[in-house]
Amino acid sequence: MTATSLADRRNAAISRGVGVTTQIYADRAENSEIWDKEGKRYIDFAAGIAVVNTGHRHPRVIEAVKKQLDRFTHTCHQVVPYENYVELAERLNEVVPGSFAKKTIFVTTGAEAVENAVKIARAATGRQAVIAFGGGFHGRTFMGMALTGKVVPYKVGFGAMPGDVFHVPFPVELHGQTAEQSLGALKKLFAADVDPNRVAAIIIEPVQGEGGFYPATTAFLKQLREICDQHGILLIADEVQTGFARTGKLFAMEHHGVVADLTTMAKGLGGGFPIAAVTGRAEIMDAPGPGGLGGTYAGNPLGVAAAHAVLDVIKDEDLCNRATSLGNRLKQRLESLREKAPEIVDVRGPGFMNAVEFNDATTKLPSADFANKVRLKALEKGLILLTCGVHGNVIRFLAPLTVQDNIFAEALDILEASILEARSA
Ligand code: PMP
Repeated sequence: MTATSLADRRNAAISRGVGVTTQIYADRAENSEIWDKEGKRYIDFAAGIAVVNTGHRHPRVIEAVKKQLDRFTHTCHQVVPYENYVELAERLNEVVPGSFAKKTIFVTTGAEAVENAVKIARAATGRQAVIAFGGGFHGRTFMGMALTGKVVPYKVGFGAMPGDVFHVPFPVELHGQTAEQSLGALKKLFAADVDPNRVAAIIIEPVQGEGGFYPATTAFLKQLREICDQHGILLIADEVQTGFARTGKLFAMEHHGVVADLTTMAKGLGGGFPIAAVTGRAEIMDAPGPGGLGGTYAGNPLGVAAAHAVLDVIKDEDLCNRATSLGNRLKQRLESLREKAPEIVDVRGPGFMNAVEFNDATTKLPSADFANKVRLKALEKGLILLTCGVHGNVIRFLAPLTVQDNIFAEALDILEASILEARSA
């Protein structure tokens, strides 16, 4: 079966709504490498979009899941509960930022975590409105989509959106949007559109993911926290993409000393198995009545078993520090290319949640075309990269934090060559 005919079958059998960025059909994967059906090997700098932070098939994750497979795979926690679910909640209550009593629920996807955080915030405050940020991404379900601050492709044709969702611009100094302007926009929103006393929550990604890997500053997050406190609004940190050592801390909010009332998690938590969570202040988490939260597969035993192993691996392999050192090496390499590649306008990101942003060298305007050329050159050479950003002109790096040194060095060489070749393409 060739990849081409598989692509044809895919197009014939699957909705085009499920986009794909490569035509590689995975055959097997190990740590930071994927082999396709033709036996070609790729270095994976996408990690299933920030999921396998601990690498593909980390032996400890696989062992934990195998053990669970041999005991039971599904009882539904709402029917016959199991201890490792309780224990994982205890662990998250311990490690999620905030020195107050916490409680947790498990669900299956990031979007579901976001949906539930909003439900919980509404139940706890008795308020309806939710504020999110332009460029933000919170999932493809209805509330996640409404909160997402990007129309194409996420909202086109899917209205009406759930009501009482408002957006303010995310501060990105590089694009002329300062923190002061964003806070000003929030104040204007309170004056013109929604009474702050009706706002249940403000949701923010500490580093915007799909939106372009733009980190929020400590000062901005602190001011947001103050505004929330002033008006009795809950702060939700969407750590679905930033979580689990990616930014050099277990959670990105730890960089800022700002504590959210509710934290959403998914992706890296399960190391490749579907599990997501919401953790927050105990009294807020208890606001919904029994039966108001949950789901058939919520906290599936295999995902729970994987998550325990992921937390162990992050600690035992010191992956937070590993993220910082890998990120520094990557950023240095990109910085050293600036002279040769004037398209590079910014290199950024905490830990190993890094990005490079490109403008056209002549027009100085964001160049999705250049970013895409780099991505395709790299793919040809066996390195899987992802783009992102409202303008599509950013390449984000999401390699497993367990990537071996020699493979990481090889990837940096491919990246450099791809950027330089994209210039002459
Ligand atoms: N929130 C953020 C910050 C995300 O990055 C994503 C996924 N890219 C989601 C929510 C949605 O997660 P999922 O795709 O698992 O529903």
